[in-house]
Amino acid sequence: MNVPNIKGFLPLSMLDWPEKVTSVIFLGGCSFRCPACHNHGLVLAPESYKDQPLEQVIGFLRERTKWIDGVTITGGEPTCHEGTPELISKFRDLGLNVKLDTNGANPIMLEELVQRRLIDAVSMDIKAPLETGLYSKLAGVSVNLRNIKRSIRLLKSSGLSVFFRTTVIPGFIGENELDRIRDELGSVPRYSIQRFRNIETLDPEFGQIPDLDLESFDALQLKFEQPGLGCRTFCMN
Ligand code: SF4
Repeated sequence: MNVPNIKGFLPLSMLDWPEKVTSVIFLGGCSFRCPACHNHGLVLAPESYKDQPLEQVIGFLRERTKWIDGVTITGGEPTCHEGTPELISKFRDLGLNVKLDTNGANPIMLEELVQRRLIDAVSMDIKAPLETGLYSKLAGVSVNLRNIKRSIRLLKSSGLSVFFRTTVIPGFIGENELDRIRDELGSVPRYSIQRFRNIETLDPEFGQIPDLDLESFDALQLKFEQPGLGCRTFCMN
């Protein structure tokens, strides 16, 4: 099976996996079109990014397995590609830990990755309370919520290190919505929120939404998230 092309490679990051130093692999394409997405080049036009030769990436990682904790696979949406498990297995063969960033839309692949023990950690974006209207609005496509719920259930029972995260978008996601999301998620070890920024959004209309002031965001963080999770996990929305 063909492995997906690598569209970006960050040799070293301390922001993508809490408390770990990882290399980051970016894959193109995504099943969502989140209007708030800051990574829309990779989502809408992955062909405009130069492919990073897999052998070079593997060679780089092979020489540094002692210095990094693992690899983060992000996007775009890595689970869009049928060959992602095979790509991940190549990093596994180097003895590396792997964290996957996902929008949760492909629970079948998530299950395969868990069952084959190809991943150690997963970051999943929770875009909105689990109702079709708002979720689809913030994903930019009609979302099958059964898949999102199945991914949440699977990850909660997987025994992996799991991070859930929501972007606070003024006018769409505020205290009430976060309350509902926390209720729907139930007990999870790691939940964080991130502040929406109105720069370079996929939907230019979202560029008109005012940034949430820091004081209000701090108050929401205090209420909703565990300390120490302020990192750039997941897709960059
Ligand atoms: S924010 Fe994430 S899930 Fe949404 S379009 Fe961008 S890469 Fe895809």
